[in-house]
Amino acid sequence: MSAKMGYYRNPIEPGTLLELKKKHPCGSRIWEVVRVGVLIRVRCRVCGRCLDMEPLALRSAVLGEAEK
Ligand SMILES: [Zn+2]
Repeated sequence: MSAKMGYYRNPIEPGTLLELKKKHPCGSRIWEVVRVGVLIRVRCRVCGRCLDMEPLALRSAVLGEAEK
């Protein structure tokens, strides 16, 4: 049970803004979901850098949904 604590369960769809636990080097925690497939592509809201993440890894890294 405890391994699942803090695991983000809401739907992750293109356009969703996610706040991650860890800050990006540019200082932002907010990432926008760009594409959902085998990997989920997210783009940093501040510097525009894109990352492809495995859904499980992304869900464990998410603090919550950010305000649009
Ligand atoms: Zn960034």
